[in-house]
Amino acid sequence: MKCPYCEGEMQHGKLSGDGRSRVHFVQEGKKLSWADHLTGVGTVTAKNGSGMNFWKFELEADYCEKCKKIILDAEVGK
Ligand SMILES: [Zn+2]
Repeated sequence: MKCPYCEGEMQHGKLSGDGRSRVHFVQEGKKLSWADHLTGVGTVTAKNGSGMNFWKFELEADYCEKCKKIILDAEVGK
């Protein structure tokens, strides 16, 4: 997928969290090692975060390393 901001190629992967540990983004085909977890590789930090509280989830997303943007599919119930 192309980044709508810079038109660069985005990393396709999985965004996941379980409500206890921090939220991670892992590029498709890659795996985080223990050393990665310790050093914060793959950890997602909201730029203007205000105490996010996530429950367990895992969904497909695309990440642009240059723009620091993650794009994901979402639907808001109404
Ligand atoms: Zn971009």
